[in-house]
Amino acid sequence: MEKKKYQIETQCVQGTYQPGSGEPRVLPIVQSTTYKYEDSDVVAGLFDLTVDGHMYSRISNPTVSELEGKIALLEGGIGALAVSSGQSASMLSILNICREGDHVISSSTIYGGTFNLFNVSLRKLGIDVTFVNPEDSDEEILKAAKPNTKAIFGETIGNPGLSILDFEKFAKVAKKLDVPFIVDNTIATPYLCKPFELGANIIIHSTTKYTDGHATSVGGVIIDGGNFDWDNDKFPELVEPDESYHGIRYVEQFKESAYIVKARVQLLRDFGSAMSPFNAFLFNLGLETLHLRMERHSENALRLAEFLQNHGSVNWVNYPMLSNSKEYKRAQKYLPKGASGILTFGIKGGAESGKKLAKYLKLTSLVVHLGDARTSVLHPASTTHRQLSEAEQIASGVAPDLVRVSVGIENIQDIIEDFDQALKAVAKTI
Ligand SMILES: *Cc1c(COP(=O)(O)O)cnc(C)c1O
Repeated sequence: MEKKKYQIETQCVQGTYQPGSGEPRVLPIVQSTTYKYEDSDVVAGLFDLTVDGHMYSRISNPTVSELEGKIALLEGGIGALAVSSGQSASMLSILNICREGDHVISSSTIYGGTFNLFNVSLRKLGIDVTFVNPEDSDEEILKAAKPNTKAIFGETIGNPGLSILDFEKFAKVAKKLDVPFIVDNTIATPYLCKPFELGANIIIHSTTKYTDGHATSVGGVIIDGGNFDWDNDKFPELVEPDESYHGIRYVEQFKESAYIVKARVQLLRDFGSAMSPFNAFLFNLGLETLHLRMERHSENALRLAEFLQNHGSVNWVNYPMLSNSKEYKRAQKYLPKGASGILTFGIKGGAESGKKLAKYLKLTSLVVHLGDARTSVLHPASTTHRQLSEAEQIASGVAPDLVRVSVGIENIQDIIEDFDQALKAVAKTI
């Protein structure tokens, strides 16, 4: 890919799309399920995966492919697979290498939806997940390993606890176990953090969040670092013939792309959670300003965090870039350009006040979403995390008084004034 030589800002804008003379300058939406061929041999070649091209949009589509190319470029991976949601990306990232009887180690400070997927739905399929405290030592984490452990999973910036993943430690454990290190890089985005440079082997994103950036579309992506040797006796499905695909051997035929090719031609074929071309168009459009947005989200979040820290109605503030944060050192190390737009704070008056706050905010709206250009708030204990037990809530970093803010890219003074007046109004009611 020639565009590798450009800096990330240029890659965000230009991606891999290179129109020929007279072709649309803007990435076109190819809203077609199907592709016409003159010759059956070409279709046979497409089926055999010996010819590049599109056959049916559940498996691949030209608009979606350009998005995949851009995200792979941004993350520094060798290939990507776009899917219908972030949940689908995390599910397929595991199912691609685990079957009934296998085991995964996961950090406990992960997104609530991923926690449920691992804790409930994967278990129903016979895949066992052990959650570890990510602050435990590498020896401690290694104790969770079993002979059938097939992956270790973590989030760059844990949502909503805002713990920063200790990449060095997790990569070391993964190396020791000879299993892939899978990282959810949704909150950081490749503009702020490049997990492949820190030992990750597979990256996933909910593109619904900062990739989109405007809260228009649900989507996800899996990116392959091409830096894991699957031929180590732990992953026979990548090495031995796939009988569901007339005996194809992924590692032999696709070398370092084995994982991402298998995810597409086997799992996307069978489970069908494909991304629509129109959504891919919107995600690509979002990525064109990712670098500008992430810079401003990070700057605004730090300014709001500093303001809230000195507010009379606030018990505590958690933002990794605050110099008194326990994550500050790690944030400096892994997120030198900024810590993204999510911050949390404890509101005086606890859960009751947390629930009330949204009513008094004017500019800021209550949504369960994050990563939007517009500032939003959420009280997780009474909303997104209500399906978890209190112990599970606390294990995933949710206290009863915790308010999560997804700081947008509006004028920071306007954002600060909105929180100031709302916090004062809530204080009068308690
Ligand atoms: C939202 C989110 C997901 C799930 O993504 P969907 O697109 O909502 O399915 C996964 N991981 C993180 C960190 C998220 O914020």
